[in-house]
Amino acid sequence: MRDDNCIFCKIANGEIPSATLYEDDDFRVIMDLNPASRGHSLILPKDHAANLFELPDETAAKVLPLAKKIGAKLSEGFGSDGFNVVQNNGECAGQTVFHFHTHLIPRYKGDTVSVKWVPGKLAEEDIEKAKSLFS
Ligand code: 5GP
Ligand code: ZN
Repeated sequence: MRDDNCIFCKIANGEIPSATLYEDDDFRVIMDLNPASRGHSLILPKDHAANLFELPDETAAKVLPLAKKIGAKLSEGFGSDGFNVVQNNGECAGQTVFHFHTHLIPRYKGDTVSVKWVPGKLAEEDIEKAKSLFS
């Protein structure tokens, strides 16, 4: 359930203090120590899962409603103009802490936050490949 070497396990379960905004049986929501913007916060499950693919469905199903609830408060309270919900899996996707977490990032007109990519063009081969995975 918990990984003794995982810093987010320790934070989520209160062994390491954090700026906690919300807590229930399954989650702790904390402010990011190095925020991308004012109000940037993280949803941490209390049980260890390295990433989305390890997260039990029951826990996963609670993440988006929680993101909505906390995100709405942050957005209103900080007066943000937009809002990103970001979740990274794997080093090459930008994950640096290998305990599932969801970023709540209030956005402000003219801010310097970057959650962007260069748009490509959908290839026929990739449509076929992807569709074949579900047939
Ligand atoms: P990732 O890059 O894995 O998606 O995001 C990890 C996030 O955790 C980063 O935004 C980083 O600033 C934040 N973070 C890393 N260590 C700590 C910590 O000890 N406390 C808090 N509050 N945030 C942390
Ligand atoms: Zn952990």
